[in-house]
Amino acid sequence: MHFEFLKKDPAGETRLGKITTSRGIINTPVFMPVGTYGTVKAMLPEELLDLGVEIILGNTYHLYLRPGHKLIKELGGLHKFMHWDGPILTDSGGYQVFSHAKLRKIKEEGVYFQSHIDGSSHLLTPEKAIDIQEALGSDIIMCLDECTPYPAAYEYTKESMGMTHRWARRCKEFMSSELRVQSSEGLITQNTKLKTPYLFGIMQGGMFEDLRRQSAEEIVNIGFDGYAVGGLSVGEEKDLMYKMVDAAVPYLPEDKPRYLMGVGMPEDIIECIARGIDMFDCVVPTRNARNGMLFTSFGKLVIKNSQFTNDAKPIDENCGCYTCRNFSRAYLRYVYMANEIIASRLNTIHNLYYYINLMKGIREAIKENRFEEFRKEFYKKREEVS
Ligand SMILES: [Zn+2]
Repeated sequence: MHFEFLKKDPAGETRLGKITTSRGIINTPVFMPVGTYGTVKAMLPEELLDLGVEIILGNTYHLYLRPGHKLIKELGGLHKFMHWDGPILTDSGGYQVFSHAKLRKIKEEGVYFQSHIDGSSHLLTPEKAIDIQEALGSDIIMCLDECTPYPAAYEYTKESMGMTHRWARRCKEFMSSELRVQSSEGLITQNTKLKTPYLFGIMQGGMFEDLRRQSAEEIVNIGFDGYAVGGLSVGEEKDLMYKMVDAAVPYLPEDKPRYLMGVGMPEDIIECIARGIDMFDCVVPTRNARNGMLFTSFGKLVIKNSQFTNDAKPIDENCGCYTCRNFSRAYLRYVYMANEIIASRLNTIHNLYYYINLMKGIREAIKENRFEEFRKEFYKKREEVS
């Protein structure tokens, strides 16, 4: 793993870093927009680049079922297929199997499930998860894990975590074994200089501090290019989530990136960067944009509210995005209410700009040793009424 550690806050856990992949550099802390079906909804790839997006996330489960990883590979891989040349991180497919598929059955060998699209039967094993991600041409591959449901009893959580560890070991062995060479579906060109694609291990442990610690130690012991905290933001209180992050982070090596999966409200990002996390992904900015919920420096704005009917101001006067430079709240409310496609486009541009700009601001603040001030300012602005 080529991860350059640029700066650590002497007083806290906050880190500044740089991940080098064969498809480009990722400055951390980073937010990764989600491109579930091989598209970041409502956005052109060039628009993502213009916003400063450095890496996107792809969903293995969905791409495997439709159009299929074999077809994507035949057509030159996911980057070419979706016209995105930058780095792509793919999840293992496990999370979606647990949340979307029908008739799931978890066994030691893997997870049996039926497609939510056509009911067809499938088996996702740790090896298969790697195979699919390699066929897609992913730059950062995730191990198959079981995202422990919430709430879950201690014994169940512990057993589930044990299986996640055994699956992680199988993923690593498969990535580095002869099996890959013989594999009919996987095998992409490896960049031997950077040793990409990178493989990240996932820690579980539910809402139990001792299990979070055990999982961190075990996954680090197996050894990966990066470490992901999984199984959070599943319905628990924020304070509990922060506590679980705190329980795992001290056992992670300083010289490897740390990724908090699926967590991404702006305040969660700030609080977890303060706890030593480097990478985030979440559907919130894009999904909420399509639902008319906009992120601003002063908090959330629901564009359909009647108070905006004749409001000539932009969404956020402090925002420099294309939408805010050219359109009023009145226009945005009107096109949203009229179900015009442009509403999704303009709202997504704004929300992603907000997120990418927030991350830029945070990195700048860490560089200049003023992250704590930035954090205070972030909350203060929200208290001021627009
Ligand atoms: Zn804007």
